[in-house]
Amino acid sequence: MEHTALILIALTLFLLVIIIGLLTALVFKLFRQTPSTDGPPPSLKASSPEEGTKGEFHPAILERMKELEKIKPRRAELFCPNHREEPGEVTCSICDGLFCKACIRPFKTMHFCKEHLPLVMRHDWDEVLTIKTSTSDPENGVRLFDVKKALFRDKDIPTYVETHYKINVDHDYIETYLVLFAVRESVDELRRELKSFNF
Ligand SMILES: [Zn+2]
Ligand SMILES: [Zn+2]
Repeated sequence: MEHTALILIALTLFLLVIIIGLLTALVFKLFRQTPSTDGPPPSLKASSPEEGTKGEFHPAILERMKELEKIKPRRAELFCPNHREEPGEVTCSICDGLFCKACIRPFKTMHFCKEHLPLVMRHDWDEVLTIKTSTSDPENGVRLFDVKKALFRDKDIPTYVETHYKINVDHDYIETYLVLFAVRESVDELRRELKSFNF
C-alpha cells in the first residue's frame, strides 16, 4: 500500500517536471517569435518601402486616407477668393464661387459676385429651359446644375438658374421648377450645347 503511494507520488512529480519543462520551452519560443510577427523581415521592407508602410494599414483605413487626400485641396475653396481669412458664405449664381458677405450682392432672388453682378445687370436674360423637379425625383435638377457649371467652366457660357415654386392646390404639394436663363445673344449657342447634354 505504502509502496503504491510512493510510486504514484514519484509519477506525479515526474509528470509535473515534464509539464513545467514544456511550458518553459513554449514561453521561451513565444518570446522569441514576438519581434518577427510585428512586420515583414527587414530585407523585405527594404526592397519595397512603400508597400511595407502601406501594408500596415487596414484596407478600409487606406480607403479613408485616399478620400481625405481628395478633399484636402478643396479646403482653399471654403474661403473667399478675395479674403483668404474670411470663410465663404454665399455662392455666386453665375460662377458658383463661394464668397464672403462683403464680396457678394443680392439681386432678384439670387446672389452675384462683384465680377458677375454687372454682367447680370447689363444684359437681357432669356428663359432657355424649364424643368420640373420634385423631392422624390431630384435627379434631373441635380443634372441641370452640373451642366450649368460645366457650360461656364468649359464653354464660357454664363447662365443662372432661378427656382420657381407652384403650390398644387388639388394635390396639396409644392411643385418646383428650375428655370435656366442665359444672355439673349448666347441663347442659340446654349440650346445647341444643351442638346448635347440631352436636355
Ligand atoms: Zn461670380
Ligand atoms: Zn470676400
